[in-house]
Amino acid sequence: MSSEESSTGANFIKTLIQEDLESGKHKTIVTRFPPEPNGYLHIGHAKAICLNFGLASDFNGRCHLRFDDTNPIKEEDEYVNAIREDVSWLGFDWGEHLYYTSSYFEQLYRYALQLIEKGKAYVCSLTTEQMREYRGTLTEPGRLSPYRDRTVEENRDLFGRMRAGEFPDGTHVLRAKIDMAAGNLNLRDPILYRILHASHHRTGDEWSIYPMYDFAHGQSDSIEAVTHSICTLEFEDHRPLYDWFIRELGIFAPRQIEFARLNLSYTVMSKRKLLQLVQEKYVSGWDDPRMPTLVGMRRRGYPAAAIRKFCERIGVGKGASWIDLAVLEDCVREELNETAPRAMAVIHPLKVVLTNYPQEQVEELTAAVHPQKPEMGSRTIYFSRQFYIERDDFMEEPSKKFFRLGPGREVRLRNAYIIRCDEVVKNAAGEIIELQCSADLATLGANPTDGRKVKGTIHWVSAPHALSIEILQYDRLFSVENPDKGEDYRQNLNPGSLQKIENVYAEASLVNALPGVPYQFERTGYFCVDPVDSCGSKPVFNRIVTLRDSWAKEQGK
Ligand code: ATP
Ligand code: MG
Repeated sequence: MSSEESSTGANFIKTLIQEDLESGKHKTIVTRFPPEPNGYLHIGHAKAICLNFGLASDFNGRCHLRFDDTNPIKEEDEYVNAIREDVSWLGFDWGEHLYYTSSYFEQLYRYALQLIEKGKAYVCSLTTEQMREYRGTLTEPGRLSPYRDRTVEENRDLFGRMRAGEFPDGTHVLRAKIDMAAGNLNLRDPILYRILHASHHRTGDEWSIYPMYDFAHGQSDSIEAVTHSICTLEFEDHRPLYDWFIRELGIFAPRQIEFARLNLSYTVMSKRKLLQLVQEKYVSGWDDPRMPTLVGMRRRGYPAAAIRKFCERIGVGKGASWIDLAVLEDCVREELNETAPRAMAVIHPLKVVLTNYPQEQVEELTAAVHPQKPEMGSRTIYFSRQFYIERDDFMEEPSKKFFRLGPGREVRLRNAYIIRCDEVVKNAAGEIIELQCSADLATLGANPTDGRKVKGTIHWVSAPHALSIEILQYDRLFSVENPDKGEDYRQNLNPGSLQKIENVYAEASLVNALPGVPYQFERTGYFCVDPVDSCGSKPVFNRIVTLRDSWAKEQGK
């Protein structure tokens, strides 16, 4: 990330950190991004990543990447590796500060013993169902577990045997002894450890008990001396519990600050649902270019800088935030408009023959790679007697506001001549199959000498030089603003979210396009070679985004 780019802008968290630095509470700040390795990262995580790494960089502190890997059943190395790759791709560097909660299992176990010794934790042998009954509700206090008064010796012994693997899953748990009448349900003797005879992706079969997320998360922050534990709002109710642990254990106290999670229209963000879309094959994988995952966006061709820009633009606050997907798409357009080389490709081709141009002649014309950026250089495009234009750029009976090609009309070919349509050739079915045109050969890079005006400019591709490509035209995965509203979000999938267009003609220079590198196809949109689908002989280009926001218009709104 470039140094002038502040990743976070002004937000209330910055103000709080500033206060902690000015009061001398901390000299350096430490933040962290703490994913659970149970799925791929999505655009919501990007908000948390940009925030945590951004704050660390703004205040010259550091940001840890820590895997909160307390649930062996749902976690895998595949996810750990993908998450590391995604965070790096987004442009952030944790340096040597890569951590795993599972590395703290021994320390966490000792913390639990410490609570047992203080009489602040006990082994409870109620069934899950009984425990739910005893817990009470928001309006009724809970009841004390009959095991709550086990002696310290008994608890120490049972907990040791839980660790040793003597008991089957679900027979006992370790609970904190806090307050079964607390208004905050998180404080009603929460579970600290459960028995789970499961292999962990990092610790193997070493453990038969695993700490609950709530018991591990705050203490892991404390162990790493994280000064500011920034998390999403749903953890506000957990803060009193985290504070209780820290106080009872007498260890370093991070300051927890909550912010509102990102919700994006036309998108689902729950990992469970994303996994379901993959498993039930609604998409081709976690990296399907329609997925809101970072792997998906990367494959689609979204630049990391556009995602950072988006996270900065949406800001950080406390109120529930719904952001329109168009904001993200605009960030992608803005970034690509600056950086993407230009090229021409004809998506729905119509053949044109220039009757006044010599049969075998080929001209090598020069065009700018980027019209506003001469430093990006130029490219060669071939011109010949036969070329393709978009079907849409011709109208047999032009409407009033149509300034492109029509019978007897003139149009400018981008980077080349002005042509006039002399004849329309049709097949037996009456369909237009070819246009016969003539060029004003004095108009290459010049206006007509007689002063006549030609309004429209269209793109084209020389037929004998055309590179045949295929386009995967991606659109929004869901067709309604809030896919979660209603019975089943899967009913809201957009049936037109992927359209394959097989016979597209692109200018010859695109033969060198590298996978994942975005181009602007002039007047059409942004595209890049798909890194996965382009194994065959014909290059496959993903549509990254259209040139303008056309969603509302296409939906007839
Ligand atoms: P779950 O915990 O249900 O599996 P999660 O989305 O919370 O899902 P984590 O791996 O725990 O997944 O997320 C890591 C971090 O990213 C957390 O600190 C979380 O608060 C943050 N995060 C997750 N989703 C969003 C979101 N939509 N907006 C902002 N931050 C998010
Ligand atoms: Mg979480």
